[in-house]
Amino acid sequence: MIFTIFCVRHYEYDVGIDIFLSTYRFLYDSAMDYQIISINQKGENFMLLPKFEFYEPTSIQQAIELKKKYQGKAKLLAGGTDLLVHLKKKLITTDHIISLSKIKDLSQIKEERDFIEIGACVTMSQLSKSKVIQEKFSALKEGGDNLGNHLIRNRATIGGNVCGASPAADTLPALLVYQTQVLLQGPDGRRKVAIESFFKGPGKTIIKDDEILTGFELPIPQKNCGAHYIQLGKRKSSEINVVNVASFIEINPGNKTIKNCRIALGAVAATPIRSFFAEDALKNKTADETAFYEAGEVARRKDCKPIDDFRGTAEYRRAMIGVLTKRTLETAYKQAMAQ
Ligand SMILES: Cc1cc2nc3c(=O)[nH]c(=O)nc-3n(C[C@H](O)[C@H](O)[C@H](O)COP(=O)(O)OP(=O)(O)OC[C@H]3O[C@@H](n4cnc5c(N)ncnc54)[C@H](O)[C@@H]3O)c2cc1C
Repeated sequence: MIFTIFCVRHYEYDVGIDIFLSTYRFLYDSAMDYQIISINQKGENFMLLPKFEFYEPTSIQQAIELKKKYQGKAKLLAGGTDLLVHLKKKLITTDHIISLSKIKDLSQIKEERDFIEIGACVTMSQLSKSKVIQEKFSALKEGGDNLGNHLIRNRATIGGNVCGASPAADTLPALLVYQTQVLLQGPDGRRKVAIESFFKGPGKTIIKDDEILTGFELPIPQKNCGAHYIQLGKRKSSEINVVNVASFIEINPGNKTIKNCRIALGAVAATPIRSFFAEDALKNKTADETAFYEAGEVARRKDCKPIDDFRGTAEYRRAMIGVLTKRTLETAYKQAMAQ
């Protein structure tokens, strides 16, 4: 005889977990045959992953060949923090999963003379510990440090964050202000795309079915540059951002005017966006509180197109864009002056 325990989940919480655990313990101790079936309120089994074939290529070329072979039917697995959740929730289905974890080239940060290359499978924890990221790309480190929690950051990759294409994702505003080039590779060779052209909408990118994102190229900022990232969520961790902003600033050290400036806004449009009107408003202005406040106002009024949802109203998002744009600019400016 086989005992079956039905574990009913209500949203994210198990109902009657104590009853479940004591029943499980009893069956375990008594060495009876048992099975556990987790079901949601509709009676669907949701805890188990569906069946799939699993591949672990050791080179980018092998991974591309597998992608080509299964023509859009195979999914790439990096850290799995998005993909596995989507598979369990049955938001996506696939018969073939290609893991990128054995391709060593994808997990490195390489420093060249004028730029760095970050492999697609570099995790948030790796970003946080990297010296060159800490010293030259602090806004990207801040983005990675804000993502999820420790466990997630040890698995979540920068490539997965970008391919997930959430308008609220934590690394995207920083990647936008650092003028990142996305590196793609497919059967026809490699191509480089400016990150602004990479996103098509929530969850949608220009990546082709047989292509892999291999990494990112970021020019190393020169002297007198600074950058900062801030996210606003409803709580402190593991929450989708209500809005997020990154700013980058280059100062003329002599007269303290703004030589160059880039601002990126998240969760206020279908993709993360550059705040071009606010950037224009700052060019050649003296870097001071008034200029930063005005840039925030321009970003709030002209650049963002937020919507109402259960995380916040469009009006609240607009107001916060004004505040966070000013704050990120102030900190970026202090960093630029400290160099
Ligand atoms: C509890 C929890 C908290 C989270 N909190 C945050 C948060 O605060 N901020 C945030 O931004 N995100 C958050 N996330 C989402 C997720 O962790 C991140 O987006 C993460 O960076 C995804 O990376 P991954 O390596 O796990 O991607 P995966 O899940 O492996 O992949 C994600 C998608 O990208 C594709 N993909 C991955 N790598 C490549 C590649 N090299 N080329 C082509 N396609 C590829 C996959 O096929 C898949 O479709 C959270 C997730 C969880 C479960």
